[in-house]
Amino acid sequence: MKAVVLRGPGDLALLDVPQPSCPPGHAVVRMTHCGICGSDVRYLRGDNPWAKQTLGEKRPNPSNIILGHEASGVVERVADDVDPKWVGKRVALVAFGTCGTCEFCRTGREQLCPNTQHLGHGAGWTDSPYCYGGMAEYVPILASWLQELPESVDNLAASVLDPLGVAVHAVRRAIRRPGFSLLVVGAGPVGALAVPVARGFGASRVTVVDLQDAALRVAIAMGADETVIGSDAELSFRALAANDGRRFDAILDTVGAPIGVYLPLLERGGTMVTLTVRDEPQTWPTQWLAGERTLTSSCNFGWEDYEWAVRMLSEGTVDPKPMITHRFPLVQAVEAFQVAENKDRSGAVKVVLEGATGLELG
Ligand SMILES: [Zn+2]
Ligand SMILES: [Zn+2]
Repeated sequence: MKAVVLRGPGDLALLDVPQPSCPPGHAVVRMTHCGICGSDVRYLRGDNPWAKQTLGEKRPNPSNIILGHEASGVVERVADDVDPKWVGKRVALVAFGTCGTCEFCRTGREQLCPNTQHLGHGAGWTDSPYCYGGMAEYVPILASWLQELPESVDNLAASVLDPLGVAVHAVRRAIRRPGFSLLVVGAGPVGALAVPVARGFGASRVTVVDLQDAALRVAIAMGADETVIGSDAELSFRALAANDGRRFDAILDTVGAPIGVYLPLLERGGTMVTLTVRDEPQTWPTQWLAGERTLTSSCNFGWEDYEWAVRMLSEGTVDPKPMITHRFPLVQAVEAFQVAENKDRSGAVKVVLEGATGLELG
């Protein structure tokens, strides 16, 4: 089968690889859609963003990763010990499974489990020639990671469930009171999805900051009240002006901006959540945390967040179509990655690969 294989840092290729087997407890899914995530671009560069954000560690990647963790498809076959009702169902693939026994899993904080196995990167894969992922014609997956899709959610929309889960988790970490105002830094996929998610959770006003005009137009289409372009010293004044001169109750930093740029815009009692931790030291006065301000990070999502994500898609609280800016067939994956990497020129927010399924889905 065709698969998008990251053989080593910077070495991405469309290859013919063996069909995956279907061991006990597993299903094999025929991929229809798989999004390219910002983290996929970072894996391509040799970085390991999962280890960095979740474990706070630098870890090398194994070779032969089939990238992709934002996948949807149709169940092709299941192992003998799996309910055959799954065959033919339209599904989203939950991109990781947790151990279920560690302290974090036992306390409903699955996103912090250190013993996870992931689709699309090296975590948890041992003696397999490939780390399997969604950018392939077929994907092996534990049947317990399958999410059946409601009638109202097509396979294209379902491919955003992973970043939508991330956005839901981050927004829920930031909410301190009903009617909160939110500043989103970065109008990439998670930033764009955070806009309707925050609305769904009762935000009164959502302002989005980005360097790119095209991305901000998408943020408006996703429901942002105000957008602010740029990164210069004047930006913080313009962001405050966009919020009627008031500081923000919540700030989501999706890009890992220097703390000093945005933390001073946080209102007393507010929370700033960063989704991209950095390893360079920064200097800033803890006085900026006075007035019970909280600075924290957010990684991945827990199962409850994922349930919210499915509900928000099926009820129409979130319509992801405006942010899906580019679609390519799987066989043009290398070109698609160039579009995703060069979003300054391409205006890409979310690039989605489509499988050669012969089915009209989404
Ligand atoms: Zn992702
Ligand atoms: Zn665990």
